[in-house]
Amino acid sequence: MNEFEVFLFDSEWDFEFCWTSKKTYGTINPRKSLVKINIRLMLIETLYHEYYHTKYPSFDESAIERMAQTKVQSLSVSEIIRITDKFVAYWGKGGE
Ligand SMILES: [Zn+2]
Repeated sequence: MNEFEVFLFDSEWDFEFCWTSKKTYGTINPRKSLVKINIRLMLIETLYHEYYHTKYPSFDESAIERMAQTKVQSLSVSEIIRITDKFVAYWGKGGE
């Protein structure tokens, strides 16, 4: 294992996959040895990103990234939770 993999798999750090805020994909708390991954934010941005690729196939990658990020920032937290719930449930059943 390289140093990064040791951090992930063979360390004292705990990882939680949970909602934090629309501002960050993750946080780290060295005092608690805890890393929180904001999987719903990553998921909703990815879903919009891919959707915009289908809707605007001539737009370049950076335009699509900006559009998806702007859209996600305009959503309420409850909308993000509602939309991503369907995918989180699928994920929980072993979907990859
Ligand atoms: Zn893309």
